Amino acid sequence: METEKRVHLLDPLVAQRIAAGEVIDRPASVVRELIDNSLDASASHISVVIEEGGIALIKVIDDGTGIHPDDLGIIAHSHATSKVQTLSDFNTLQTLGFRGEALYSIAAGAHLSISSTQKGSLGSSIHIHGNTYGEIIPGGPTKGTVVEVKDLFAEIPARRLFLKRPSSEARMVKNAIIEKALAFPEVGFTLTHNSKESLFLPPSSLKDRVLNVLKGNKDIVASEILSMKDAGEHFSIQVLGTEESTYRTDRKYIQIFVNNRIVDEYSLVQAVTYGYDPYLPGGAFPYCYVYITVDPDLVDFNIHPAKREVKIRNRAEIHHQLVLLIQQTLQKHHYTSQHREDKVRDTSPLFASEAVSPYTRSSAPSTPSGGYRKQTTAFPAPEHFHDDTWFEKAKKIFSDSEKREEQVQEVGEEFIYHGQIFSLFLLVERNNSLYLVDQHAAHERILFDEMKQYDGTQPLMIPLEFEVERSIDTFLLAHSTMYESLGILLERTGELLWAIRATIPHYREMERELVSSIQNFSSGSLEELHKLLFATASCRKAIKEGDAIDRVQAIALLKKVFKLDHPVCPHGRNFVVEITKDALYRSVGRVL
Ligand code: ADP
Ligand code: MG
Repeated sequence: METEKRVHLLDPLVAQRIAAGEVIDRPASVVRELIDNSLDASASHISVVIEEGGIALIKVIDDGTGIHPDDLGIIAHSHATSKVQTLSDFNTLQTLGFRGEALYSIAAGAHLSISSTQKGSLGSSIHIHGNTYGEIIPGGPTKGTVVEVKDLFAEIPARRLFLKRPSSEARMVKNAIIEKALAFPEVGFTLTHNSKESLFLPPSSLKDRVLNVLKGNKDIVASEILSMKDAGEHFSIQVLGTEESTYRTDRKYIQIFVNNRIVDEYSLVQAVTYGYDPYLPGGAFPYCYVYITVDPDLVDFNIHPAKREVKIRNRAEIHHQLVLLIQQTLQKHHYTSQHREDKVRDTSPLFASEAVSPYTRSSAPSTPSGGYRKQTTAFPAPEHFHDDTWFEKAKKIFSDSEKREEQVQEVGEEFIYHGQIFSLFLLVERNNSLYLVDQHAAHERILFDEMKQYDGTQPLMIPLEFEVERSIDTFLLAHSTMYESLGILLERTGELLWAIRATIPHYREMERELVSSIQNFSSGSLEELHKLLFATASCRKAIKEGDAIDRVQAIALLKKVFKLDHPVCPHGRNFVVEITKDALYRSVGRVL
């Protein structure tokens, strides 16, 4: 019979190697940890030197604050750190490191040498391997720290087996440096592989850093990148993203940084795609770097040793704000560039467009009508009529307007739909005014209202089961009726397990997005939830800018629009511009 195994404490070296496996799995993760340490030491330049993809050698040189000679003797012990002391320090944590495990883990699988000089003390060096410490010997760099890691996993064949070819490992090291460099543009970075420089990123502005990093991959010029900023109560957001004409067909370049750390945060990547969605063709995604700064007491990075995961308590709020920020910026950008283009394009002498003379500034008094924005800006004045072809043009204009007359008949008396312009605006004549209706925003608004007054859910053929975090589980137990009131029937199928049983038709074919929203939402506000679900469903379904829209669709939409008291989109933007007949007459120097 087999003898029963008894409990014993693991040999420290075995324990060290087991723990190390969670932090260090390849050269790139060593580089990541060492750069974090250099950044925490306020370095302004960090050089990384590797040989054989980092398997033979990794050397990180910084000009940071250095290490006190007396600290070298315990520096690679488990939980040896200068960054936190008490639990409450986690509420104000500003450093990238806090676990005191990196050097400990590196020493477990390689030969580690540290040489450092701190201001006011002499430089000193130490060699550490496993839990064997060499002597602390005098001598170090003039400033900062040099850390050398040699023969990674030489004694752990199981780990070595998972390493790729040196060139692939080198590529991963480079990417690890780029991720750090994108979060710290004011710090200079270099990488040398087998004595050849493979990356050079001088200290720069964030925008230049992004451009530098993208260089070689896709040459994007500064004017193609939009810079966006916003702040909420406990967070701020900065986004550098490409304008709508520059995109790719995957989400690879949508990267999220939270408190200077790159994180795998699907819901925020999704927020970026929602924000861009109305402005990009289907299946296209931007290059977009999102930097979120959250109060340290609202985030927890202590989930995974490599800190790629984060729990953000106000994630739903950030998600929402991010969608809005991107949409509003793109909308503004789109209109200004469209306007610029029009100025360049319109060289027709019949209606000169540049000249804005004082008498064209019309701010005609107008009759109040429920919230529609009045057009008060200038119309160009008719100028010189030197065009010999003007008669031909005029004939064409008249024959076109005759065609429109015919169309008027079909529409009825309420309003006359004249067609679409700039692939966005529906042109309507109604009660002595001309209306320009933003078709995308209008359709979003109508959808929004319809979703609020849904009638009847439809069961899913197969209920869609998904897992949630404990906090969301508790939240759903208390709040699943909130979802029900918005047309989503949820059922708890087990511990931390929920399923969508039925939804209103608006959500069909977007159940996955729905699940991701549910997994991330934990605010008790019905209004907030409505907005979130709406963002999930509508941005996909709404008629996009640039979409062709036929007369029947347009008229159906307009009928609904003119029934609204307040034509603002769910994001609060006005989407109907009214120009009165009176103002139009005045702008050409006529009176009604
Ligand atoms: P952590 O970063 O979580 O504190 P590490 O094992 O990475 O744990 O590092 C242990 C300690 O060594 C750090 O807290 C820091 O005091 C010191 N240290 C490591 N690298 C450097 C460096 N490049 N410059 C200054 N101090 C460093
Ligand atoms: Mg560290």
